[in-house]
Amino acid sequence: MEARDAAEGLEYDLAVIGGGPCGLATAISARQAGLRAVVIEGHVVASTIAQYPTYVRFFSTAEKLSLGGVPFVVADEKPSRRDALAYYRTVVKHFALQVRQYEQVRAIEGKQGAFRVLTRTRAGEDRVVRAGAVVVATGYFGSPNKLGVPGEDLPHVTHVYREGHEAFQQDAVVVGGGNSAAEAALDLWRSGARVTLVHFGPTFDKRIKPWVLPDFENRVKEGSIAAQWNARVRAIEPRAVVVDVPEGERRIPASLVYVMTGFAPNLTLLRDVGVPIDPQTGIPAHHPDTLETSVPGVFIAGVVVAGFDANKVFIENGRYHGDRIVARLQGRPAPAPPRLSAELDS
Ligand SMILES: Cc1cc2nc3c(=O)[nH]c(=O)nc-3n(C[C@H](O)[C@H](O)[C@H](O)COP(=O)(O)OP(=O)(O)OC[C@H]3O[C@@H](n4cnc5c(N)ncnc54)[C@H](O)[C@@H]3O)c2cc1C
Repeated sequence: MEARDAAEGLEYDLAVIGGGPCGLATAISARQAGLRAVVIEGHVVASTIAQYPTYVRFFSTAEKLSLGGVPFVVADEKPSRRDALAYYRTVVKHFALQVRQYEQVRAIEGKQGAFRVLTRTRAGEDRVVRAGAVVVATGYFGSPNKLGVPGEDLPHVTHVYREGHEAFQQDAVVVGGGNSAAEAALDLWRSGARVTLVHFGPTFDKRIKPWVLPDFENRVKEGSIAAQWNARVRAIEPRAVVVDVPEGERRIPASLVYVMTGFAPNLTLLRDVGVPIDPQTGIPAHHPDTLETSVPGVFIAGVVVAGFDANKVFIENGRYHGDRIVARLQGRPAPAPPRLSAELDS
């Protein structure tokens, strides 16, 4: 390996783009197989988890979020965001993973055996990482799905929910029909806000966590939270959200607006290196067993494998993607995919 790398001028066997749980898991698999891997992360490791709502708990048990066989032990039933951040930092140190943080990947050039990954540091320096193969594990949170209405960029509007304290005794409008919207509405109400949830559908989209749905429905029944279904946001004003409802136009008072309409992955790196992306599903063309894309030597790992549907790949199953990629690189058959937990199967 050393002699071959020196001849080809390679720095690494594998460059993993993205230091989320699935990118880290891939680097661990590579390391355990004796490959030299580097993780290039645009922010800090596990940055997606760092941006979760401050006090959220995982739906997965700690064991199902663990990487590389390192025990993840917590005192409570489900880990908190802080537990997971501490755990993933520990894992990076335990395996002495090489991680280049705050280095954004801008392009992948070259071909199998001789890729050049072009990066830019936070300080504005351009760098090149050479690697024999590349894994794109850039996750799902590329950019928020915007409503595209006037006023969406006003300072009292956010697309990320952190915590409810700022909304104490304020009029808060939550836009969206998924889990994040339901959980944000409940948390805001518990923080003393006057909350209205607005959604264009007649009810929630499916896949609301089974313990969240009755909580929300009971709050609506007792009049603690208002729900405005079949409502399309037309504009956001400094003091109100303007919606179109079947009866006409409605102005809902709002000094804080939480647009919880999900995110879309940034697939530019893959597209630019020549991987076709299905326009309907957002899934990059790849082999389902090896996760190698249609460009030899370029792989995908983690939630990016599922395209626009963030409900198919999670940490629970995405953490095994690296094993399949490394098997392919070493010419071994792909290991069988694992089973998911009951929550994810439903
Ligand atoms: C509130 C909440 C709760 C959740 N709970 C669970 C749970 O209980 N169990 C579970 O299994 N899943 C859970 N998930 C889903 C889980 O967070 C994701 O499935 C997981 O983060 C995906 O991991 P990943 O490594 O594929 O991507 P990510 O964790 O999103 O990591 C991708 C990384 O790539 C980096 N990146 C992106 N582009 C570039 C670039 N060009 N250059 C360099 N770096 C780049 C990003 O900065 C990011 O750090 C939850 C999600 C949310 C929002």
